[in-house]
Amino acid sequence: MPEKVIIIGSGPAAWTAAIYAARAELKPLVFEGACSDENRIAGTLPLGQLALTTEVENYPGFPAGDLTAYLDTALPAEKRAEMSPHGKHGVTGPELLELMRQQALNFATRSIAEDIQGVDFSKRPFRLCASDGKTYEAQSAIVASGARANYLGLPSEEKYKNRGVSGCAVCDGALPRFRNKPLAVIGGGDSAVEEATYLTKFASKVHLVHRRDKLRASKIMSERAEGNTKIDLLWNRIVEEVLGNDREGVTGVRLKSTVGEPDLELPIAGFFLGIGHTPNTAFLRGALELNDKGYIVWPAPMRTYTSVPGVFAAGDVADDYYRQAVTAAGSGCMAALDAERFLAEQE
Ligand code: NAP
Repeated sequence: MPEKVIIIGSGPAAWTAAIYAARAELKPLVFEGACSDENRIAGTLPLGQLALTTEVENYPGFPAGDLTAYLDTALPAEKRAEMSPHGKHGVTGPELLELMRQQALNFATRSIAEDIQGVDFSKRPFRLCASDGKTYEAQSAIVASGARANYLGLPSEEKYKNRGVSGCAVCDGALPRFRNKPLAVIGGGDSAVEEATYLTKFASKVHLVHRRDKLRASKIMSERAEGNTKIDLLWNRIVEEVLGNDREGVTGVRLKSTVGEPDLELPIAGFFLGIGHTPNTAFLRGALELNDKGYIVWPAPMRTYTSVPGVFAAGDVADDYYRQAVTAAGSGCMAALDAERFLAEQE
């Protein structure tokens, strides 16, 4: 029997879709993604980008406070044992996601820790090929596979990936190689500022390198970076080369000026990217209409429909504008309601 709905992804959009679909008795099956090295290097591990952040201060319902007792009672003991101790500041990205996931599982959502690697949406039931080698059939599908961090694409950056070059400060920042060393973060948006601020916990200094003379980040985040004495803001600079050697990995970076200043070579032990994201849509291989940046197109305003009836999209995989946990969760809810109505119309 085909599934009623298969959900691809495990971020806020996917788990919210699962909660709503489960409560509508659609018995959702969620493909959470595999905990593989390939996904770790690509920045596409299960639970997605929110799991790579620290404090989440803007998700409604979680003001600063001590959630220890709540986490202890809401999550299974074995899951709590795997998680970092709660910091008594409100909720973190990983905590919020574990709570969302648990809420979906509590309503009998089933989940599989595999990637979906290919889809056939040309006729129903849809067919989805997973990394366990099996093909799954579904009457409807919700794509909530999110987005991942971008890299500059320099050969020197590629050479030192995982040896000082990282797309995720929160994943890698606490590694011994970065402790008490100067680091660089590239970018001028909220991600770059958040990464730079986070890294000041470990680094001796963080150079925040931006290609223009003004941050794109929100006012509050920009002010935080500008007021942090460990952050050195470097304006009008682009990366020419990541410097290093086979023994130590990254040892420096050569920066070119966009305003005619001489080149600058900075000694650094870590090179972190905060230059935006790419949607995880490669596995769709033309099955859905995408925009020029690769995001799934939502053809109808305020609907999560895609170019294929019965396939819905939610969260960052279709949203390159808001990209917030709460908007992703909201669109996950919408996708589940859209799928429920679609299935009811087919009966
Ligand atoms: P973003 O806002 O698109 O910023 C990307 C930054 O990288 C820009 O400053 C851009 O420079 C720079 N950049 C892009 N390509 C580059 C290249 N090849 N070389 C050098 N610099 C490059 O992306 P984001 O920071 O990931 O944020 C995305 C969305 O998520 C935003 O809506 C943001 O508000 C949200 N977000 C929120 C939080 C939070 O609230 N805590 C945290 C993270 C992200 P230009 O400025 O010159 O274009």
